[in-house]
Amino acid sequence: MNYKKALQNPIFDVISKSAANLKVDSYVIGGFVRDFLLDRTQKKDIDIVCVGDGIALAKEVSKHLPDQPKVQIFKTYGTAMLKYQDCDIEFVGARKESYTEDSRNPAVNPGTLEDDQNRRDFTINALALSLNPETYGDLLDPFNGIEDLKNKSIRTPLDPKITYSDDPLRMLRAIRFASQLHFTIEANSLKAIAENAQRIDIITEERIVVELHKILESEKPSVGFLLLEKTGLLKRILPELTALKGIDEIEGQRHKDNFYHTLEVVDNISENTDNLWLRWAALLHDIGKAPTKKFNKKVGWTFHGHEFEGSKMVYRLFKRLKMPLNEKMKFVQKMVLMSSRPIVLAQDIVTDSAVRRLIFDAGDYVEDLMTLCEADITTKNPKRFKKYHNNFKIVREKIEEVEARDHVRNFQPPISGEEIMTTFNLKPSREIGMIKETIKEAILDGDIPNEYEAAYQLMLKTGEKLGLSTSS
Ligand code: ATP
Repeated sequence: MNYKKALQNPIFDVISKSAANLKVDSYVIGGFVRDFLLDRTQKKDIDIVCVGDGIALAKEVSKHLPDQPKVQIFKTYGTAMLKYQDCDIEFVGARKESYTEDSRNPAVNPGTLEDDQNRRDFTINALALSLNPETYGDLLDPFNGIEDLKNKSIRTPLDPKITYSDDPLRMLRAIRFASQLHFTIEANSLKAIAENAQRIDIITEERIVVELHKILESEKPSVGFLLLEKTGLLKRILPELTALKGIDEIEGQRHKDNFYHTLEVVDNISENTDNLWLRWAALLHDIGKAPTKKFNKKVGWTFHGHEFEGSKMVYRLFKRLKMPLNEKMKFVQKMVLMSSRPIVLAQDIVTDSAVRRLIFDAGDYVEDLMTLCEADITTKNPKRFKKYHNNFKIVREKIEEVEARDHVRNFQPPISGEEIMTTFNLKPSREIGMIKETIKEAILDGDIPNEYEAAYQLMLKTGEKLGLSTSS
């Protein structure tokens, strides 16, 4: 088969001619070819393999490009990269690899194109298109990857046991591709992943997180998480989630399986947001339920304080996975901590003051919090489903109405500490905080409007109660 039409980007012509100058064969390989054949959005990463020196080819290509882009060389890997327009083009010399037990970094020797295709993780990632003048655009597919693309199957070119044991990251990649592309992992491969699950321990946290992000960013992340669970990888990577599995029953009282519930919530939220961190929040919103679970004869199963416990666990989990402990982490913590607030609120008559407090506490994230709570509705009872959604609709409307009137979203105290000090001729002291708190509480309760004059009067009254006299 010939796929010249995949090679419309003029860069391929330059690579082809440069390789001919150096008298080496060159091919485009991997994700670019796969995604072209799948009709997916064209990738911005292009992998070129040449039977020879990849770094020399990159330098030759750069010479023939306008502005001669800088060639970045990765000596340890024997690869080179250059940027052309909005594409990252990576060059590597075809190679043979041999692995040792304790590392995913193989010993590398120069090889043929076939050797190089053998070292690829999946048949669908080993597809190559020729850039050589006589065969330009021809598909080289030694493992029938094209058939696997049609059958939506993830299969390794060589024995899966060896492939996964050599580089255990491939287990996560298999699951990530299954989730991203809606593919099935071929049975022998799946078995080999389960058998090699403990080998994931040699993979760095950073690499694991890259794959977790890609699973979370897929259309239906539960596909990936269910595979992680089934193969035994999840309990090694995210034991907080597997701890949510199972249903306990005491005296005929059961609770829901919070693991499967969580996955439903993640799928639900993914229909409404591409925000990766909000998807993380959905994934972790119930993790505090495992350590807080108790049975109480009168009320049945309880998870008191699971939101607080969960938000503390978020910190530990991010730290363990070496994810940055930054604003994103704080956002996830906040979502987990507040995840039940709108639910409690919607169960009752939605009062203005409860809504004001919600906006005050959630700040700019109040909409995200509502999106999370809506995704949390997984009841199979259509009546209840409708009722809960309707309640949240009311909460959302109230949020808009109250915020338009009271502006508590990014609350700025209408009276500053300095003004309190001047009014009562005070040095920094407890009383200032008490007055400020009283004003804030009165605004949130709706006892006074969020306005200067009303707050000023309340300041005077509170000062008087505290036995303070004004300086005038
Ligand atoms: P994506 O960009 O969506 O991650 P990709 O397949 O292009 O997809 P890359 O990580 O850019 O993924 O890798 C490029 C190619 O290198 C792959 O298509 C595959 O052929 C090969 N490859 C990547 N990682 C591995 C690995 N761990 N083992 C074997 N081959 C790999």
